[in-house]
Amino acid sequence: MTTEAPFVAGPHEDEPHDTGINNRLNWLRAGVLGANDGIVSTAGIVMGVAGATSERGTIVLAGVAGLAAGALSMGAGEYVSVSTQKDSELALLDKERRELAEEPEDELEELAGLYVEKGLSEELALQVARELTAHDALGAHAEAELGIDPDDISSPWNAAFASMIAFTIGALLPLLTITLVAPGARVAVTVLSVLLALAITGWASARFGYGASRRAVVRNVLGGLFAMAVTYAIGSLLGTHV
Ligand SMILES: [Zn+2]
Repeated sequence: MTTEAPFVAGPHEDEPHDTGINNRLNWLRAGVLGANDGIVSTAGIVMGVAGATSERGTIVLAGVAGLAAGALSMGAGEYVSVSTQKDSELALLDKERRELAEEPEDELEELAGLYVEKGLSEELALQVARELTAHDALGAHAEAELGIDPDDISSPWNAAFASMIAFTIGALLPLLTITLVAPGARVAVTVLSVLLALAITGWASARFGYGASRRAVVRNVLGGLFAMAVTYAIGSLLGTHV
């Protein structure tokens, strides 16, 4: 038995070293923003209708239609944008794959050059580039040149589905509140619960984006308040004059 601990290369177990951390933060941020959209747009719709009528069925119908339309529109938008991103990532990987097959020597020099730029000596850079090329040439080039992980290309369906769910969760809050609370208190309770929820999503999106949280919370809450005030005023005006 040796007394010295063997050298083990690898990340510390208590630190998040995998590149997944950034990805996860992006997902969280997208989820919070989707929920925020669901809260504000559905609150605007149900408050607008509540300004015109106190009939619960009408308010619920408008809210459900708004929820469905919003969730589908978010999902479709996300699908289109992530598909475009995926197409361009795949095209870049294809080009890299072709270059590796056609001019491997140039590619090796290119890769070594990138490591020299990062601070390695030419000799070491060339050795690193050789070993990485032998191990996984495409992966090494994709990471160093393009900042893409070939094993982690974003999925348009996942993104679309996730944003639909996030929007729906947010939309359910004002919809359920205005549906379940008694007519006399429904507007006030909905406004308060929406503002509270927007304070939380504003705080969370600032946390995940490293922004200043107090200003983000105030901005988010005022934005929601403005949306509800405007639609309620429109609903009240149209409700009495149409
Ligand atoms: Zn290359």
